[in-house]
Amino acid sequence: MPIDATQPYDDQNIFAKILRGEIPSRRVYEDEWAVAFHDIAPLAPVHILVIPRGAYVSWDDFSANASAEEIAGFVRAVGIVARDLGLVAPGYRLLANVGGHGGQEVPHLHVHMFGGQPLGAMLAR
Ligand code: 5GP
Repeated sequence: MPIDATQPYDDQNIFAKILRGEIPSRRVYEDEWAVAFHDIAPLAPVHILVIPRGAYVSWDDFSANASAEEIAGFVRAVGIVARDLGLVAPGYRLLANVGGHGGQEVPHLHVHMFGGQPLGAMLAR
C-alpha cells in the first residue's frame, strides 16, 4: 500500500529499524550520512537501497528540509556505492519513489540502485 508522502515521519518504519540495527540487513556501505543495503526482494541482479541517516519521509521532505551537509553527504554516498560495486562502467539506474503515484511503500527516503544487466525501458508501458 503506497504511503502518503506528506505524512509526518514515523520512527517505527522498517528502514528506521534497519538504521537502528533492530532488524537485520545486508549492508554494503555506511558512513556518517547514509547506509546502503541489499533490497530484500531484488528486481535486478544488483538492487541496493541507499538511505540517509536522517529522519526524512521522502525525496520531497529531504530536498525541502535536510541541511546542505546532509544532502551532499547522501548524494556522495550514492556515488560511492555505485563505484564500489563496479556499476559505473556497465551503467546503472537510480529510482526514488515518492508517495501514491510513485508507489512508495516505506516512509523513509530511499534511492533504489539497479544494475548488473541491461535494465530495459525506463517505465513499463
Ligand atoms: P518503495 O516501493 O518504497 O520505493 O520500495 C521499498 C523497497 O523496500 C522494496 O523494494 C522492498 O522490497 C524493500 N523492503 C521492504 N522491506 C524490507 C526489509 O525489511 N529489508 C530490506 N532489505 N528491504 C525491504
